[in-house]
Amino acid sequence: MNLNRTRIAVVSVAAALALTACGSAGDDDEGGGADVDVKEDAAAEFDDGTAMKEFAEAGAITIGVKFDQPGIGFKGATDDAPTGMDVEMAKILAGSLGIEPDGIEWKETISDNREPFLEGGEVDLVVASYSITDERRAVVGQAGPYYVTGQQLLVKTGSDIQTVEDIEGKEVCSVTGSTSLENVEAKGATARGFDTYSECRDQVLDGTVEAMSTDGSILLGYAAENPDEVEVVGEPFSEERYGIGYSLESPEMCEWINETVQKSYDDGTWADAFEATLGKSGVETPEPPAPDACPAA
Ligand code: GLU
Repeated sequence: MNLNRTRIAVVSVAAALALTACGSAGDDDEGGGADVDVKEDAAAEFDDGTAMKEFAEAGAITIGVKFDQPGIGFKGATDDAPTGMDVEMAKILAGSLGIEPDGIEWKETISDNREPFLEGGEVDLVVASYSITDERRAVVGQAGPYYVTGQQLLVKTGSDIQTVEDIEGKEVCSVTGSTSLENVEAKGATARGFDTYSECRDQVLDGTVEAMSTDGSILLGYAAENPDEVEVVGEPFSEERYGIGYSLESPEMCEWINETVQKSYDDGTWADAFEATLGKSGVETPEPPAPDACPAA
C-alpha cells in the first residue's frame, strides 16, 4: 500500500476573477478551492475489474455538477473549471484515484437529467446537490450523505411571505425533477418548474413569481449575489441529504465513495472544502453526517 500523498493547492484564480468581474460572487474569495490530496500509485490499490481501477489507470473521470449554483457548483462563462462544495467533493474523490483536478471532465447536470446521465454513462459520478431518495436509489446508486440541508424560501426583501405557511395559493418557482418542486406543491403553492435554479431566481428578481424554494444552501448562494434585493426566509421544512450518484452497474463504487468521504471528515479536508465554498455564503460549518451503509452486494 502506498500512502505517499502529494499536497497540491487548487486555486481557481480565473474563476475568482471572473466571479468578481461580473459581480456575481458576493465575495472575492468565492472561486477559491481547498487543498486536495492526490494519491500516488492509486491504481495499485484497487482490484482488477472495478470501476475505480479503470478510472485510476486512465487518469480520467467524468463528473456531473451544477454550473449555476454559487457555493455548490458554479461555472461562469469565462471560467476554466467549476467551483463550490460539490466540486470540492468531486476533487477529493478523484484525488483518491490519483486523478488531478485537471484530469476531471466536468459536465453540467441539471436536476432533471442526473439519473439519465448516470444510467446512460454520460457521467461516472454526479455530485450536484443531489438529495438521497428511495425513488432515486431505485434507478441509480447514491453513496453518502456528505452534507445535510433543508428547503427554505427566497423572496424579495420585505415580502409578505416569511414562512412556509404563507406560500399557500401563491406562485412559487423551483426546478423540474427536484425534491423541492414536489415539496412546494405539497404545501399548497402553485408550483412553477424551470430547468435551472438561476432561471427561477430571475423570476423572483423581476417579480414574476413571489418566491423561489429549494435547499437553503442553494438559496444562500443566490442571496449573497443580490443582498439588497432578496432574502432567505423561514425555517427549513424538509431534510435534504446530499449523496453522490454512481451507476448501479458498478455497485463497488459505493464503499470507495463512503470510505473517501469518511476519510475527508477525519483528516479535515471536508471542513477545509466547506469553509472555502459554502462557508463563504454564511453557512456555519456543520458536523458532517455519517454515510449510510452501502446496499448488500
Ligand atoms: N436537493 C434537492 C434535489 O436533489 C434540490 C436541489 C436540486 O434540485 O439540485 O432535488
